[in-house]
Amino acid sequence: MSVHPVELQRLADQQLSLTWSDGVEQMISYRRLRDSCPCATCRQPDPPQPADGGLRVLSPAETQPLDIVAMSPVGNYAYHIQFSDGHSTGIFTFDHLRRLGEVPDD
Ligand SMILES: [Zn+2]
Repeated sequence: MSVHPVELQRLADQQLSLTWSDGVEQMISYRRLRDSCPCATCRQPDPPQPADGGLRVLSPAETQPLDIVAMSPVGNYAYHIQFSDGHSTGIFTFDHLRRLGEVPDD
């Protein structure tokens, strides 16, 4: 039987605290969640850099500290996470969240 989160908490330093049904506690940063968003758009390769050496300009939302605006259950296997940068198409399965929490932040 697979485990599922029994408690989710947003911590002050942009970390999500997860407590699992097997008693394991994990912390995952919002940035890490956002960077590992499993949706089709985020899984595409990065767009090519401008050929003239210019760098991609950050949108205003990207320069703000990342936050989780909303997090809601999807069925009994995943969470839908809405980020403060306007991105909200990611469905994070419990397996995916658990794996993220098992690998330490760099
Ligand atoms: Zn995404």
